[in-house]
Amino acid sequence: MMINNKLNKFSFGIGDRFAHQAKAQLAAIQKAEEQGVDITPVWNKSFREHTIIKSKPIQTRAAADKAVKELNWQNSYFLDADHINLNTVDHFIDCCDFFTLDVADYIGKSAPENEIEDFVSKQTKYIGKLTPKGTSKTFEITRVLLHHIAKDYLFAVKEAGKIYRHIFQKKQNPNIMIEVSMDETDAPQTPIELLFILAALANEQIPLQTIAPKFSGRFNKGVDYVYDIDQFRQEFEEDLAIIQFAVSEFNLPENLKLSVHSGSDKFSIYPVINAALKKFNAGVHIKTAGTTWLEELIGLAEAGGSGLTMAKEIYTKAYDKYEALCAPYASVIDIDMSQLPSPDEVEAWDGKKYAESLRHDQSNPNYNPHLRQLLHVGYKIAVDLGDKYLDALVENEKVISKNVTENIYERHIKPIFID
Ligand SMILES: [Zn+2]
Repeated sequence: MMINNKLNKFSFGIGDRFAHQAKAQLAAIQKAEEQGVDITPVWNKSFREHTIIKSKPIQTRAAADKAVKELNWQNSYFLDADHINLNTVDHFIDCCDFFTLDVADYIGKSAPENEIEDFVSKQTKYIGKLTPKGTSKTFEITRVLLHHIAKDYLFAVKEAGKIYRHIFQKKQNPNIMIEVSMDETDAPQTPIELLFILAALANEQIPLQTIAPKFSGRFNKGVDYVYDIDQFRQEFEEDLAIIQFAVSEFNLPENLKLSVHSGSDKFSIYPVINAALKKFNAGVHIKTAGTTWLEELIGLAEAGGSGLTMAKEIYTKAYDKYEALCAPYASVIDIDMSQLPSPDEVEAWDGKKYAESLRHDQSNPNYNPHLRQLLHVGYKIAVDLGDKYLDALVENEKVISKNVTENIYERHIKPIFID
C-alpha cells in the first residue's frame, strides 16, 4: 500500500449540508489550480449536522467521489469526520479519511498529578525566555506556567491519543489525516499553551497534520470576524512561529499546520492570514461552515417563481422557529431579533432583494447579517421540506452552482490563497 499521509500545504474544508453541491464546490478549487495554486478539498460534516439532516457519511462520500469523477480531479481529496470524539467516531470510520479529534470538552480536566509532574520535568529545558524565529515577542516560561498548562491540557491531549488509537486500530489504514481541535471552548489558547499542547501530542505519537486552536475574537457562523484585527495578526503569526519551532523540537510531521475553523466568511482577516502565510512560508487548513446551503437559497431566490416562493417559505418558518433553531448554535451566532425583517416584509420581496439581503456582500446596503445567521442555522426547515427541497435544488442547479462556485472562489479562496 502506498502511504500518503501528508496533507498538502494548502487545504480547504467545505461543508455541503444536502450533498448536492460537491461539484460546484470542487469547481472553485479547480479555478485556483488554473491560477497555479494547489489546494486540497476536504468535505467536512459534523455529527451534529448529520443528526439534524438525518444524513450519513456515506452520502458525503458518494457526492464527493461523483464530483471528483465528473470534473476529472486528479489530486487528493478527503472527507473530514468533523469534531468527533469517542462517542461519535464510529459513524465515520468507514467513509472518512480525515478525522478532527475534538477534545475541547476535556480541557480543564486534570490528569493525575504524577503524569503532570512527569510531563513538566521533561520540559524543564524550556524554562526561561523563548523568542520563536519570525517574531519579536519574547515569552517567559516558568515551571509554574508549565504546571498550569499541563494541568489544563494534558488530560485532553491524552484523550486525543485514545481517539487516534481507536481510529487507527479500526481503520487499519495509514492513509488518514489527523487534526486535533480545541476551538469550541470559551478561552483562546495562547501561543505558549499551543507549544506545550504540541509537545504533549507528540508524546502521544499522533501523526498530527493540523491543529485547530481557539483564536481570540468571535468566529460566528457565516458572518465576518468580530474583534481586534491587529491582535489576531499578532496571535496568528505567533502561532505560526510556534508551530515551526515545535515541529523541529518535538519531531512532529514537518508539514504540520494550523487549521482555522473559520465558521466561513471571516473576510476582514483573510488578508492577514494570506500575508502571514507568505511571511512564514507556512501552509494552512481553512475550514468553512455549511454556508454553501445559503448559496442554494440565494440561487432559489434568484431563480424566481417556485424557487423564490420556497426561499420565502423557509424564511417564514425559520423566523417562527427562531429559538429552537438558534439554541444548538447559541455560542456561535449573534442575532439581533429587532433587525430581522418580518415574514410579511419578506413576502413582498423580489428575488433580487432576497438574494442581496442574504448574500455576504458588505458593500450592498441590502445585506442583513441577522437574516443571514438565522437562515444559516435554519437548514432544519429545508430538511423538513424533504424531497420538495431537493427537487428544487436539481431543478435550479445552474443558478445555484454558479453562486456556490463564485462564493467559494471569489470570497474565500482568492483573498486567502491567491491575492
Ligand atoms: Zn471547530
